[in-house]
Amino acid sequence: MKEITDQQRNCKHEAFQARVNVNRFEDTGLFMADVTVSCARCDLPFRFVGLEAGINFAQPLTSIDGLELHAPIEPETETQLRMAAHFTMPAIISGRH
Ligand SMILES: [Zn+2]
Repeated sequence: MKEITDQQRNCKHEAFQARVNVNRFEDTGLFMADVTVSCARCDLPFRFVGLEAGINFAQPLTSIDGLELHAPIEPETETQLRMAAHFTMPAIISGRH
């Protein structure tokens, strides 16, 4: 981790910038979206939480430092991976009323 500047330490992180690089793997025809998010004011990178590190075409994972999301994607008309999709609500949200 880089040393945090005074600007980053004092910033409330109220505006964001994101970068998405989409890769198409020629040999498999699969796609991967690599996403990073940082504060638009102080440039501090944000970490993706709750995912393991690695690359997997069946589920999103992160880089070792958690700063880059590796999310497999597919065209909307593609059914190969869509059928395995499901939603999970985090306990901290589902417990609220
Ligand atoms: Zn900031």
